[in-house]
Amino acid sequence: MSTSIQTDVLIVGLGPVGAALANLLGRYGIRVTAIDKSTEIFNAPRAIALDNEALRILQMCGLEEGAFETVAIPEVRMHSPAFGQYSRAVTAGAIDGHPKLVTFYQPELEQVLRQRLNQYPHVTVQLGVALQSFQQQDTHVQAVLQDSQGHAIQVSARYLVGADGASSLVRQALGQDFKGKTYAEDWLVVDAKNAAKAIDHVEFICDPKRPTPHMVAPGGRQRWEFKLQAGETREQMEHPDTVKRLLPPWATPGQDIEIERVAVYRFHARVADRFQVGRAFLVGDAAHITPPFVGQGLVAGLRDVANLGWKLAWVVQGLADPELLASYTQERQPHVRAMIDLAKWMGRLVMPSNGITAFVTHGVMKTLGHIPKLRRLFEHLEIKPANRFKQGCFVPPGANSVLTRGGQAPQTWVRRQASSPTQTTTALSDDVLGTGFAMIGFGVCPRSNLTATERARWEHLGGRFLQIDPRGRPATSPPGDAWEDIGGSLLPHPLPHGWVAIVRPDKVVMHDGPATDSAAILNLAIHELKPIAAH
Ligand SMILES: Cc1cc2nc3c(=O)[nH]c(=O)nc-3n(C[C@H](O)[C@H](O)[C@H](O)COP(=O)(O)OP(=O)(O)OC[C@H]3O[C@@H](n4cnc5c(N)ncnc54)[C@H](O)[C@@H]3O)c2cc1C
Repeated sequence: MSTSIQTDVLIVGLGPVGAALANLLGRYGIRVTAIDKSTEIFNAPRAIALDNEALRILQMCGLEEGAFETVAIPEVRMHSPAFGQYSRAVTAGAIDGHPKLVTFYQPELEQVLRQRLNQYPHVTVQLGVALQSFQQQDTHVQAVLQDSQGHAIQVSARYLVGADGASSLVRQALGQDFKGKTYAEDWLVVDAKNAAKAIDHVEFICDPKRPTPHMVAPGGRQRWEFKLQAGETREQMEHPDTVKRLLPPWATPGQDIEIERVAVYRFHARVADRFQVGRAFLVGDAAHITPPFVGQGLVAGLRDVANLGWKLAWVVQGLADPELLASYTQERQPHVRAMIDLAKWMGRLVMPSNGITAFVTHGVMKTLGHIPKLRRLFEHLEIKPANRFKQGCFVPPGANSVLTRGGQAPQTWVRRQASSPTQTTTALSDDVLGTGFAMIGFGVCPRSNLTATERARWEHLGGRFLQIDPRGRPATSPPGDAWEDIGGSLLPHPLPHGWVAIVRPDKVVMHDGPATDSAAILNLAIHELKPIAAH
């Protein structure tokens, strides 16, 4: 017996990345079928750290602060046997409205993302259903699925997204090489809970004999990762006696801590040649995998879906030409590679190959730390590659741009004044900008230099207008459209008189310039969107 389904987007794999994409497309009103071959959430120890960018994307997916438990991490410390603490990264504080670094429990996040899908009647989830094969046609993708009873399901989807993890069938079916390296070293990951005492930070014990990252996580949890030594096997290392032997001096299993899960992993650094082939896309681990030393595997997958989600939605709704989708690989791949390079570099610090290399590497890091400019690079995470595009769907920066076109617009707290002070609303600016495009006027009404036709065209394409004023300055826009930048980081500094900007649904700045050029700015941004001629 075979059933058949028609959908706009078929998401293969409902891990954290597939589930985040399903939520985004759900918010955009797109008809989605999301499948996973497993009926359960994968419970092995995997992602534990998320940065402010990941938290901002989860906010875009509709997750409010507190939707899942997190622990803010104030500091990452690097230790060496020869030099003690030889370096550190300060992760206290917030960027764009979110803590710079938190730890979390991946199965809880996945659970929350799946639960949130229930609110979208146009998103269908099928668990215990595996992709078997698919073929691309001119107008759609024809996929064959199989449910847990062995029944075949035929799906006709306008687009297919492979969020099916590192061994992706979608990637293999697309004939994509997964170029890169698999590390020769194995690591034992130990997750424990109900700790009587715990550190409040992340520490990397960079002992060449047994490198050990160690960190705190929600629910009284702690994680240790132990590099295997020559001759040690997976079976030996996953044995409870080995864990009991390794955990002291931090804790004693069974006495002041409970072992939750252990697993031996081998890390990889690999990137698919292309993240798009025709109507099929790769996101998350299906597209790239990284060593976990900078905690960026899942974060990169979330960046993928923030980038791809709105593009698919606008194309499916007929508001943009499918040509727009080519900008997904163009914008994402260079950043993925840069982040993997950083993780590899960090890996060399964490797991130097021998005592001499450790002494030299950690000694050089300690010495460089005395030079304030170089210390800041590491200490304030300035070595982290900025998520800023060289090419893609934005108007290239000109001599007069004051915002970072092709980079993320900052997020800040904004306040809308009402007639009564008790009705004043305070919100994070991304929530105010909304799920579509926004034309922002900084200290100026963004509509003021546009004709009624231009305004209507923008609104038809899912664009809205908003005015952001410096704190305390009376608004000139109609009530409801004007907000004060009370966090002080969304307005350009210094603020040119009457400035406008176009921000994409993923909060990337597309264009900016003087309000007197509003019409040209709007038209160039719309041109980048490649709307189909009828619009
Ligand atoms: C030890 C370790 C530590 C890590 N630490 C961090 C960290 O601190 N921070 C961070 O950001 N990242 C970290 N990562 C990486 C992170 O866990 C992964 O990047 C993330 O889980 C990938 O999510 P995904 O949704 O792309 O893939 P997965 O979670 O692998 O999901 C893929 C889904 O696809 C389904 N599937 C597969 N094939 C099919 C098919 N044919 N049909 C239907 N369904 C299918 C699977 O059942 C699965 O549910 C770590 C990884 C490891 C191993």
